[in-house]
Amino acid sequence: MPAMQILTGLTVAVMGGDAREVTLVEYLAEVGATVKTYGLPVKGPNIVTCPEPEECLIGVQALILPVPGVNEQMELSSAYLKVKPIINEELLSLLPAGTPVLVGVARKPLRELLEKHALDFVELMQLDEVAILNAIPSAEGAVQMAMERMPITIHGAKAMVLGFGRTGQTLAQLLENMYAHTTVVARDSAQLARAYAMGLKVLHFQELIDYLRDVDVIFNTIPAPVINGEILQRLPSATLIIDLASAPGGTDFGKARELGIEAVLAPGLPGKVAPKTAGMILSRVVPGILLQKMGH
Ligand code: NAP
Repeated sequence: MPAMQILTGLTVAVMGGDAREVTLVEYLAEVGATVKTYGLPVKGPNIVTCPEPEECLIGVQALILPVPGVNEQMELSSAYLKVKPIINEELLSLLPAGTPVLVGVARKPLRELLEKHALDFVELMQLDEVAILNAIPSAEGAVQMAMERMPITIHGAKAMVLGFGRTGQTLAQLLENMYAHTTVVARDSAQLARAYAMGLKVLHFQELIDYLRDVDVIFNTIPAPVINGEILQRLPSATLIIDLASAPGGTDFGKARELGIEAVLAPGLPGKVAPKTAGMILSRVVPGILLQKMGH
């Protein structure tokens, strides 16, 4: 944890969410904020449980929405609620223009609504300080999925990591530390140079097509349709694909199925495999953002 940032005097709403938000609420309350919650099983000093979403928003200086935000129907992501509240104009109009709204991912309809109400929204998952730390549980979760599905150990497995950004770097390093024969595939020469400097094998994306004969597992972190029919056709059918890229992933899943290749889309790993850690990651960054938005 960074130096504790005291939030005394601040009232924030945390609506919906899962175990990550429970951890975050506990932390915010501990550092002095008054936290109004809706749909979270968390109680304690400084925590006010609201029976209705409207009540939750009254008199708050900021709103925190769950990591996945809302779905296409604008239903709030809420693990503990049978009936998910709809985030609509009426609800958001309870917040004065300029109120900070922190959300993990703001899909288009939510983004448009927040912009329409001139709310000052921050997409937490876009921030390096969140994405880099989230890469740790993501990488562990991806490796766990591979271990559960492969008949061989990670040690000695021929693994490829597509993409060498925040997630790819941590994942490739973890695989290498577990003695997998790890090859990083990227298009950016600086990223490839970094991977090489870290002792990893590297391939430029353009070369990939010629190196698919002998691979046990591919981890994709590229949010673009990179594992296409042409690539899939050249893979041994025993290859496992774990696709971490945001939906719809970077794999032609239909084609993979046709070819008998196991390909799995693996969204939201931090919240699934390490919700407590994922909540602590939020707790590291949210107080600083709130203070900055409040002009402290
Ligand atoms: P990032 O830091 O932006 O890295 C993305 C990587 O993909 C970079 O190496 C980038 O290279 C490469 N890339 C992007 N478009 C490409 C293309 N068309 N062709 C070839 N390479 C391309 O992103 P990140 O934080 O690692 O996240 C990667 C993806 O994983 C995102 O979709 C994110 O939402 C998702 N994610 C999922 C989980 C999970 O639990 N499943 C967890 C964390 C993140 P350039 O720099 O050359 O563009």
